[in-house]
Amino acid sequence: MKKKLIAGNWKMNGSLAANELLIKGLLAGVGQPVCNVAVCVPSVYLAQCHALLEGSVIELGVQDISSHESGAFTGEIAPAMLKEFGVHYAIVGHSERRQYHGETDEVVAAKAQRALSSGITPIVCVGETLAEREAGKTEEVVKRQLAAVIHANGHCISEIVVAYEPVWAIGTGLSATAEQAQQVHAVLRAQLKAATPSADRIKLLYGGSMNAANAASLLGQPDIDGGLIGGAALKAQDFLTIIAAAV
Ligand code: PEP
Repeated sequence: MKKKLIAGNWKMNGSLAANELLIKGLLAGVGQPVCNVAVCVPSVYLAQCHALLEGSVIELGVQDISSHESGAFTGEIAPAMLKEFGVHYAIVGHSERRQYHGETDEVVAAKAQRALSSGITPIVCVGETLAEREAGKTEEVVKRQLAAVIHANGHCISEIVVAYEPVWAIGTGLSATAEQAQQVHAVLRAQLKAATPSADRIKLLYGGSMNAANAASLLGQPDIDGGLIGGAALKAQDFLTIIAAAV
């Protein structure tokens, strides 16, 4: 059976002291989970987190990746550099990067491509805004966002992870209902099935105010293969409860 994935997105939070406390709390309680677990940390803390997580069941991820291999790209971090710190996952196309950094579908697709060719699994985020949902455009938007990644990545598409993150649910405390999330996941699964015979292998995560209280019902949906967790990933006990719900 496909293992679920619970990935924390720490966003721009943390400090040397807070990271150590959080990671030690996670390691003390995580045991041998039946799902895969990852934390996507601010890149400046990769060395610290890599050292703390070495040999553990918790894998390391980042929140963005360059679409370039190396060279004159001031401020960017080459994928090969991330690999040196044991990075396994890169969030790509998070709505905050689309919104605040102008990342287009094409840029997101190029980043996913670069991650894949560097041996890093992209967690590709798609999701509609509240205005788009209210205009009945949810399907159209998420399919357009995913289509760009499918188009750029051809047969490698079965190696990606997709995260459906409705923008209106991120950081608001207002999660999609399990039914709303499943409905969109089924659309995304069908789109992936049309693109690759291996679509069933692809993990489709839900993200947007997933927490210790609602995780079990979201993760119980047939097409929800895990979660991308923001706020609740900063509290060891909450994150551990979500991990335990991912059976
Ligand atoms: C996120 O930022 O990816 C996210 C899902 O945040 P939150 O869980 O806080 O809504």
